[in-house]
Amino acid sequence: MGRSVGATGPESHRVAIYPGTFDPVTMGHIDIATRALHLCDKLIIAVGDNRNKSPLFSVEQRMALIRESLELQGVNGRIVVEAYHGLTVGFAQKKGATMIVRGLRAVTDFEWEFQLALINRTQDPEIETVCLMTSQEYSFLSASMVRELAMLGGKLEEVVPPPVAVALRTKFDAQGMSADVRDV
Ligand code: ADP
Repeated sequence: MGRSVGATGPESHRVAIYPGTFDPVTMGHIDIATRALHLCDKLIIAVGDNRNKSPLFSVEQRMALIRESLELQGVNGRIVVEAYHGLTVGFAQKKGATMIVRGLRAVTDFEWEFQLALINRTQDPEIETVCLMTSQEYSFLSASMVRELAMLGGKLEEVVPPPVAVALRTKFDAQGMSADVRDV
């Protein structure tokens, strides 16, 4: 059982990682993760512990929110959630993964994801980056937009799983930053 990408025998066990910041996880991320399950046996959602990005939620909170959201979606089993820092390829190697999953929304995502895939290939040409196209209903959705929406007191039900909506409300209510528009 090597890391051969083409391995398809009954004993092959294809591990993929889906790396990202997930600050917080959105319906768009959940959609990509569940669809990626068609391409692998096990998917590791790899939550980047990158303090330079000063995320809204700690890495522990982001992981807990992904786990709770997956339970609600009934897709837990073959998906695990882990934190990592440092090189994404290094983490993939450590986990025996042959695939890095990323999501593509508009054309604007393409340039960055293309660059990332090429740089990652220089680190280990046996690990393929696979980009899944967004589902149309989530094509506009980004974690930064969700954070903005939450800060302004907007409706969150269609864009994030219920535990994330609760966590965002709690966070912004605690900071006294939610605008009154939610009650309009
Ligand atoms: P990063 O900081 O690595 O971009 P994100 O959590 O923002 O982390 O995104 C992780 C991956 O998920 C990226 O490949 C991003 O393009 C993808 N993604 C985010 N939102 C969506 C969405 N609505 N539809 C499809 N892919 C998405």
